[in-house]
Amino acid sequence: MGTIKVIIAGPRGRMGKEAVKMVQATEHFQLVAVLDRKYDGQLLSEIEGFQGVDVPVYIDIDQCFSEKQADVLIDLTTPETGYVHTKKALENNIRPVVGTTGFTDEQLKELTALAEEKEIGCIIAPNFAIGAILMMKFSEMAAKYFQDVEIIELHHDQKLDAPSGTALKTTQMMSQVREAKKQGHPEEKETISGARGANIDGMHVHSVRLPGLIAHQQVIFGADGQTLTIRHDSYNRASFMSGVKVCVETVMNVKTLIYGMEHIID
Ligand code: NAP
Repeated sequence: MGTIKVIIAGPRGRMGKEAVKMVQATEHFQLVAVLDRKYDGQLLSEIEGFQGVDVPVYIDIDQCFSEKQADVLIDLTTPETGYVHTKKALENNIRPVVGTTGFTDEQLKELTALAEEKEIGCIIAPNFAIGAILMMKFSEMAAKYFQDVEIIELHHDQKLDAPSGTALKTTQMMSQVREAKKQGHPEEKETISGARGANIDGMHVHSVRLPGLIAHQQVIFGADGQTLTIRHDSYNRASFMSGVKVCVETVMNVKTLIYGMEHIID
């Protein structure tokens, strides 16, 4: 495998810092630049915590793409910025690997069409942790047999989007095999709004936000006399990096947009 040239957007963020470490530690990856909203024109190595990482920092994405040749953009920013970055990367024939969550269905559709038109790979993965992908796959298997299911997703209190991208993706996967059902008592009423969480195709999703947490999800199925709980916990952000690495390698060999790592791992 030849060297893959990478740009990282959001390098000072919690995920971005780990991604910089991962790219630096991977022999066939080469970090060529970073996109930030501060420190324009400086070297990343001038910023605390990045000693020895001598790559330029850009604020302007167009300038970055015109001055630096890259194969892949890893985006770990915010929903608004991540969407703009992904679109610009595709327009410039740079393959996006996007961990940023919170894109709308409309945005996903538009990016899918753009990737198809440009015949260029793009991977948007709401969760890079292999264990979380398995949790979603196991939930999809179980949803065929259990119509009644609720999700409790738990994240750190700095997370911007709710419910999490992983919870949304899990409901989408379960919807494909689960017979539609409005859960709970037919005359159920919330005495306080929000008490039953978000309702997605009749499945309820509860979002917990607390300091101390990283990324956790519990999928609880119920039937007569039994429950089944499938749970995954990420205890640090390094847990996501083996997935980011697989996505960077895979995106080089695909020509469409792939939404979710479950389409990549067997
Ligand atoms: P974070 O710590 O807040 O980092 C986000 C970074 O993006 C910050 O450094 C921020 O800069 C930077 N940023 C914001 N606007 C920007 C812009 N216009 N240009 C360049 N950089 C910009 O967040 P995080 O915890 O690392 O999470 C990042 C994203 O990944 C979120 O969407 C989160 O939901 C998602 N996530 C995905 C996974 C997965 O497995 N797919 C796992 C965890 C998190 P400032 O510091 O100046 O604000």
